[in-house]
Amino acid sequence: MSSDDTITTESLIRDIQQVAGKPCPHCHDSITLADALKCRAFGFGKSPCCAEGLAQALGNSVEELDETARNYFNLHECYQSAWQWIQEQK
Ligand SMILES: [Zn+2]
Repeated sequence: MSSDDTITTESLIRDIQQVAGKPCPHCHDSITLADALKCRAFGFGKSPCCAEGLAQALGNSVEELDETARNYFNLHECYQSAWQWIQEQK
């Protein structure tokens, strides 16, 4: 059992709220909640950055990253719920 098994929607939201608003280490843009959740999904939860920076780190385009992230969220209920929560934070 990996520690990932204990992830809940609540813990995800708490984690990304702590990260959101911080400057990206690469371009110094503010990291959004959506960026933070994508970083978390791709294993960059401890070194979060903006979507562009994450795409670069993974060797993908931002569009590819977006699609992969959506697919990942669809497969993981806690991420899916956290993603929906982000959409409501406007
Ligand atoms: Zn950046």
